Amino acid sequence: MRDLGLNDNTSGIVIIGGGAPVPREDYGELAERLHGLAVQGFPVPKSIAISMAQFGSIWNGDSSSLEKVAAHFSSQELLEVRPSPEARILNGVPTFFNVGMSSAACKLIAKKVGDYIAKTIHGEFIHTFAVDVAGIPLQSVLTIEEQIDDPTERIAALLGYYKKQTGETFPEDTATQIFRVCRAIMGKWTGPDRTLLRSARTTIEGMRLGVIIQAMADGMRGDGCGYGKLTSIDPKTGARKISGHLTVFRHGQPLFGGGENPIQSYLPGQVEHVSALLDNLRLHFHDPQQIEFAYDGTQIWLLDSMSADRSVSGAIRAAVELVEDGLITEEEALCHVDASSLGRVLHPQVKPGSLHNKVIATGIPASPGAAAGKIAFSSRAAERFVAAGKDCILVRAETGPEDFKAMHSAQGVLTGRGGLTSHAAVVARGLGVPCVVGASDIQISVVDHDSASPQTRLLKTPLGEQQELQEGDIITVDGTTGNVLRGKADLVEPSLDQYFESFLSWADKVRDIGVQANADTIDEVRAAKKFKADGIGLCRTEHMYFEESQLAVMRHMLFAESSEERKLVLQQLIQMQKRDFTAIFSEMPGRNVCIRLFDPPLHEFLPRARGEIERLANDLGRHVRHVFQRADELKEFNPMLGLRGVRIGVVMPEIYEMQACAIFEAAVEVRRKGMDIIPEIMIPLVSANRELELVRDHVNEVADMVTRESQVELKYRLGVMVETPRAALRSGDLAQNSDFLSFGTNDLTQMTYGLSRDDSQRFMEEYISQQVYPSDPFSTLDKEGVGELLKMAADRAREVKSDLTLSICGEHGGDPESIMFCRKMGFNYVSCSPYRVPIARLAAAQCVIADD
Ligand code: PEP
Ligand code: MG
Repeated sequence: MRDLGLNDNTSGIVIIGGGAPVPREDYGELAERLHGLAVQGFPVPKSIAISMAQFGSIWNGDSSSLEKVAAHFSSQELLEVRPSPEARILNGVPTFFNVGMSSAACKLIAKKVGDYIAKTIHGEFIHTFAVDVAGIPLQSVLTIEEQIDDPTERIAALLGYYKKQTGETFPEDTATQIFRVCRAIMGKWTGPDRTLLRSARTTIEGMRLGVIIQAMADGMRGDGCGYGKLTSIDPKTGARKISGHLTVFRHGQPLFGGGENPIQSYLPGQVEHVSALLDNLRLHFHDPQQIEFAYDGTQIWLLDSMSADRSVSGAIRAAVELVEDGLITEEEALCHVDASSLGRVLHPQVKPGSLHNKVIATGIPASPGAAAGKIAFSSRAAERFVAAGKDCILVRAETGPEDFKAMHSAQGVLTGRGGLTSHAAVVARGLGVPCVVGASDIQISVVDHDSASPQTRLLKTPLGEQQELQEGDIITVDGTTGNVLRGKADLVEPSLDQYFESFLSWADKVRDIGVQANADTIDEVRAAKKFKADGIGLCRTEHMYFEESQLAVMRHMLFAESSEERKLVLQQLIQMQKRDFTAIFSEMPGRNVCIRLFDPPLHEFLPRARGEIERLANDLGRHVRHVFQRADELKEFNPMLGLRGVRIGVVMPEIYEMQACAIFEAAVEVRRKGMDIIPEIMIPLVSANRELELVRDHVNEVADMVTRESQVELKYRLGVMVETPRAALRSGDLAQNSDFLSFGTNDLTQMTYGLSRDDSQRFMEEYISQQVYPSDPFSTLDKEGVGELLKMAADRAREVKSDLTLSICGEHGGDPESIMFCRKMGFNYVSCSPYRVPIARLAAAQCVIADD
């Protein structure tokens, strides 16, 4: 080969696979990758990379370097001109093929592949050049082509038309063609469409472009030649298996092939070679690859190779097998999977493409996974469907505590209002029920008929063809994407196989921060155990009270007129609570179980619908008026800042005493069975040290009493949930009287920002798009503000008690970025809903690896 001075990169034009380096920042990602492959001995077609700087000069009209580029290739070689942007994801500009085709080249090529094929290629090149380079309208070129069948005549007509339209003869020499094609590529790259596309995909401005001139290796459509894309793993499962699609030429005509093992079917002579090639690439990159290739009738050429596409389970299996084959370490494998994506393997998902044109609403994806069922507009309807063995989706404007049971039995939940920490979102995540909240597109309207027939409710939506749906109509909620689909979508079942288990066991070896679960019911505790949570970091006791029998007692308690009467009624709850706690402790022997005392405002326990109020009045033997009156008394303008949490514990101590008694008696029972348990009791919404002192004294008295009566020595730990800014500021005082502090960052975020966790989704999107907030602070911890409070509180508390246990139990406990922050702050553990435990385990391990 002649030395054309292409072996050093001072001119910005180098041979790929030659002696000069081809760094991405100068030549783009594809050029760098092809160079690496060629240097390693992989078969890459003869190629030249033109740097971004040199490409800029070509765009400015300097074609002087292109003669030597053209001279690098023989006159019988056709070329492709391939864009090579700095980051591959930013492409979007097409490759130009068959560059170098001219009347003279056509004759030479005809000798190899025949006149007809050579002229067809020639005609196609003139077409592309005329339309995409010279800007001649496509339709006029198509009209000429449709009128003429004979390839020779067609070429002549196209060349004539080209001259007429542009005033110039069609360029026949390769260097000019390359120059013009390069300018067309740059024109497209800098045009408004591509610029917009790029700005949607990256925030980096002024992304630059290099270009590759490469010999086409598809055998010029000779019989049996072709090209295609193959991948070495099954993208769904990650199992090693060749799949993809290819195009093979027979008599100059393309045959498309795909499906199972396309190489075996269409290029049987290349099976071994392709398998070896894919194996070698996996060995080289320590990662399964997908390739673009061309086959020239003699050999396979690599046009590109990149990390193979894979689902999350596919990524886990591929990573585990790389470790098994000794190609990567366990720690490296842990970095092959995005922690947040793990949610997708834990729940059924909508099969890609299923009902894709039936989206009737979108909202906030609040609890991952998908489910289909009949619309139930009320908890009663949901329970009716469930009793009749029908799957249902609970559709509400928003949910409240009285919906808990229905949420438990429904397959999915959809609400029109609410954000990521709204009642629906928190409960659904805990239960692992797919949930979309804040779907503001939907409207649930009540249609009144005449007095004889009952009201009907309709789900109205501006999207989709059928805009009104009734109770019983079937919808699918996709809590992973936030879409609501009309009809029953096909779902893909999750698989927690041996790969998943091994993979996460490696995460547990690496991580140095605990991962516990927020679990309120025995089912949630079992889910937490299945996902290998280290313990229960938050058990919200009030959720137990929404079970029918406990709810009745709670409601009765609200009508008690004295402390004595309240105590009497609560006596009925002790046994029920004790049963719940005993079951939970028994599931978690030897592990931490942290029970939070009663937290919500009391009015949440009163029914809202008139029918239910009447029933309650009947059960209590009181007049309906009295029930309404009590509801009125309990009503607060700002219930989330009102009589809730520890404030109830102070003004109605009987409730906390009952809970403490149930906890201790359950602990005694479990201890008697020989299981080891040290319960933790957590006090919510504390803002003053005195609140803690009062509750602590009561709890200690109850503990003494249970110890005296049972003769079993009780150990327990008492802690504070830091979820008011004042508690954070005064954490030093609180630490003196506590064994642990757990940050309730849902309320702490709400109170630090003065931002409603239930309503902020109305403007959150707008706020994020205008960059007021970088992300939803209820989803990812606000490190600057709320994080500052956390840091200050942690420092102040540990100054007083250096071995104090610190943790976080707001929804942020399952968010990888927030977990990283908590680890940096030296927290002992994070606690999150059971279905996010695997995410947290992996994210916690990734933090350690990133730090090393
Ligand atoms: C919190 O406020 O962060 C918390 C965990 O408690 P809840 O969500 O029950 O208010
Ligand atoms: Mg809270």
